[in-house]
Order: sequence, then structure tokens, then C-alpha cells
Amino acid sequence: MPQTKSLCYTEIVWKSDVKNMKTTFYQKLTSTSLQGELLSDACCEKILTASEVELLPLLDAAYQVRKTYFQNTVQLHILNNAQNGYCPEDCHYCAQASSATADIEAYPLKPDAEILAEAERAYASGAYRYCIVMSGRGPSPKRVAHLAELISTVKARYPIEVCLSAGLIDVAAAQTLKAAGLDRLNHNLNTSEAHYPKICSTHSYQDRMETLQAAQRVGLACCSGVIVGMGEETDDLIQVAKALRELEVASLPVNFFLPISGTQLTETPTLTPAYCLRVLCLYRFLNPRAEIRIAAGREHHLRNMEVMALYPANSMFIEGYLNATGTGTSRTLQMIEDAGFTIKINVGDEEQLKQNETKKRDVLLKELKVLRPRMESST
Ligand code: SF4
Repeated sequence: MPQTKSLCYTEIVWKSDVKNMKTTFYQKLTSTSLQGELLSDACCEKILTASEVELLPLLDAAYQVRKTYFQNTVQLHILNNAQNGYCPEDCHYCAQASSATADIEAYPLKPDAEILAEAERAYASGAYRYCIVMSGRGPSPKRVAHLAELISTVKARYPIEVCLSAGLIDVAAAQTLKAAGLDRLNHNLNTSEAHYPKICSTHSYQDRMETLQAAQRVGLACCSGVIVGMGEETDDLIQVAKALRELEVASLPVNFFLPISGTQLTETPTLTPAYCLRVLCLYRFLNPRAEIRIAAGREHHLRNMEVMALYPANSMFIEGYLNATGTGTSRTLQMIEDAGFTIKINVGDEEQLKQNETKKRDVLLKELKVLRPRMESST
């Protein structure tokens, strides 16, 4: 992506003509992003915090960028937590960290048959991409060989994109995984370099950056994103968005922090739905071609504004996250459809998806204990 001069139009327009601002400023945001130009830090800050920057036109400006590259499609992803817990790292937000006492269902790597069955289910339910996620600092060479075998089996059986999240890896591991057919490697930056020591002590921002660079070196597409709400400043979010822009990540999950008791980071962030939407818009302006995914915390922090997130973002997880459940698939699909977006799924899966949905949308009749609670309690 070309690195050109930083632009901030807010001062120019705000000073000259307030009435004009509503069109000019937002249109400039769209055109600046589409031309591959960078917004200044001051402009990014205003997008996140200035009340003069109104939410609806901001969402529309981000939507114009999203529409250019992704039209009205929404890509759906299903996570498979292939190994849960047993991690020696101490990421303060993570329920699987060695330092966490969270009550999670820990298990070593699932048997191959289980992972393959889940890949089949992801394919059948219409997911465009199947994500295999493993806890841990990073895989041993033996584990890399095993994962490579699994990936090539999934790719041979189902026409589905495969993404792997396996911790820190080097160039040799990245090469093996790429040769097996891996489409993408996920490794989130999570937060800025400056804020990183406050969320983890066992590895650094630089370690994470080197993993992404190893993937890039062998031509693997990168998926890397952020967690909003871990005590960072707005500038930290701006710096992560810019780092991801420089890495030219193909996929960019935006998580909104959900504190899990038993982890080191238990403070509930004061994120408003409007702020979350502003973050998504900023990430779209700075990463116009990236597949921006609304990830963990969307239901909790966006609340009734959840559907608005589809204007800057073009992708979402269904069926929950690593250690937290999400909204049911049926409700998510309905939300996407009601807002006029179309779901991007694998060729040939439309019929299967329709059949699944017909079954799921059957009216659920109220049980007697709901209809007549007094009668139930008196028996
Ligand atoms: S985020 Fe990954 S590396 Fe960090 S503690 Fe959790 S599983 Fe381990």
C-alpha cells in the first residue's frame, strides 16, 4: 500500500463552513481511504472521540469504502478451538493463560477425526472459512508436521478456506504449513507496542510481529487483529491499525474485550456501542482492502447497534468465540439478511444452508411452566 502524506481534513472544514462539514469531511475520509492515503493521527483521534464527527455519516463514509471492495457481502467464520488451555504464556486477558484460574474446559489437541468432523460441519453450515485455533506459545516441529497433514486432508475433502492460529512460528514452520495448503495464518497483534508489556510478560509485541513477518516471507496471507478495551489509550488503537496497514493484513478481526473471571484482566471496559462503531470505521479507513471481522464481544458491547457494525465490517464469527459463547447462528443470519446484506458462502452450499435454516426457524412454542408459572410452582 503506498505510503503518502498524512491528511486531516477536519480542521480545514470545521473552521471554514460547519454546514458544509457533514458532506465534505466524510466524503474526504472515503476518498482518502480509497486513494490509499494515510489519515493523520489527529484525524484518527477525532474519528474516535470528537462529538462533532457524527456517527451516521461516519458509518456511511466507511460503508462506501467497504462497498468498493466487498460490496454487500458478509463472510462467516466458525472457530474450532482445537486445543484449549495448557498454555505456558501469561496473556492477561486470556482464560487459557498459565496465570489464569478461569474455569475452562482444558483439553490437549483434539483427535484428527474430531477436527475433520468439525471441518465438515463448518462446510455444511455455510462457513466460508474454517479456523483452527490452538493454545500455546507455538508448535514444535513435530506438531507442525501433524498440523500440515491435517490441513492437507481438510483441503482435499472440502472446498473451504483454512486458517490456523497456533502461536509463534518461524519461517520454516510457515513454509511447511503453506505447502500443506494453509490459506491464512492468524496471529493477533492485540494491542500496541507501547501497551504490550501491560497485557503480557512472557512474549513481546516484537515476537508477534516476527511471526507475521515469517508468514509474509513465505507468501502466507495474514490474519491479525486487535482487542479493544484492555486499558489502552485511543492512540494505542490508532498505532495498531497503522501497524496492520503496514503489514497489509488480508484479514483483521476486531475484538471487544470481554473480561473472564480468573484472568489477570478483570476490569470491565467502559465501551459504548458508538465508540465500538467508531473503532470499526477507523480500522476500515486505514485498512480499506482488509476483511474486517467483528469478533468477540460484539453482542455484549454493540448491543442493539450490532447490525450497524456491518457497514464498516464485512465479516463475522458465528457460533461463539474461544471461551465465550455467542449469539445463535439463526439470529445472526437473520440480522444479516434483514439489513440487506448477503452471506458469502461456498459454492453449492446455498441449499444446505436453506435447509438448516428452515429447521432452525420453526416457531418454538412456550412450555407450560412459562405460560402458567403459578400452576407449576403450586404442584
Ligand atoms: S492468548 Fe494464546 S498464547 Fe496467550 S495465553 Fe492465551 S492461548 Fe496462550
